[in-house]
Amino acid sequence: MSIADNIKTLKKETVPIKVTLIAVSKTKPAEEIMEAYDAGQRLFGENHVQELLEKQETLPKDIQWHLIGHLQSNKVKYIAPFVSMIQSVDSLKLLEEINKHAEKNSRVIDCLLQVYIADEETKYGLGFDEIIELLRSEQLPLLKNIRIRGLMGIATNTDNEKQVKEEFYELKTFFDGIKQSFFRKDEAFSILSMGMSADYKLAIEQGSTMVRLGSTIFGQRVIKHWKNN
Ligand SMILES: *Cc1c(COP(=O)(O)O)cnc(C)c1O
Repeated sequence: MSIADNIKTLKKETVPIKVTLIAVSKTKPAEEIMEAYDAGQRLFGENHVQELLEKQETLPKDIQWHLIGHLQSNKVKYIAPFVSMIQSVDSLKLLEEINKHAEKNSRVIDCLLQVYIADEETKYGLGFDEIIELLRSEQLPLLKNIRIRGLMGIATNTDNEKQVKEEFYELKTFFDGIKQSFFRKDEAFSILSMGMSADYKLAIEQGSTMVRLGSTIFGQRVIKHWKNN
């Protein structure tokens, strides 16, 4: 199947049930991204700032770029002028930095809080209690140039479907609770980004509203630098 066919198939699967498809194009060259673009895809996800910047510069300007990888505070300024959503917010400090640069650019930047749900030693994401602490902080209401649109989570990389399903179930339950207690009157808080190539069907069953797919669209990633493809 070609990239265009993959996009078409995935659109048929996700559009009727209102699940948003993010095409994760990390390590992939411009020509392959353009194949997805020409098939109608406009939402793309990247996990490194430098790679995102170079792609943003050369590719069509109506692409909406989501940052899905860990973001260091000192790199926020580079993406603030254009980034469509930052899915990987994992501290109040980062949120304050995003707010500062969004304001400089006269923008409001959409953000997701990354929740740590996997049973793995991954370095990033906030625990459930840390998310609540962040949402309760007195500084948060002062940040007028960011908008928290929802939560993002990455399940454990395992063949154990039961475990992955439980992680997604917990995240969805947590999302519903947060929505009730902190965002009841805020319709913008509506995004639950969970599900990658290996587990997006399980994620959708558990209530995902946004899936982030790389290899299902572009094929396996070879481990080499994207510019040398
Ligand atoms: C790479 C990546 C994806 C996509 O991974 P695939 O398994 O290729 O679908 C999704 N989310 C995040 C945060 C990623 O880093």
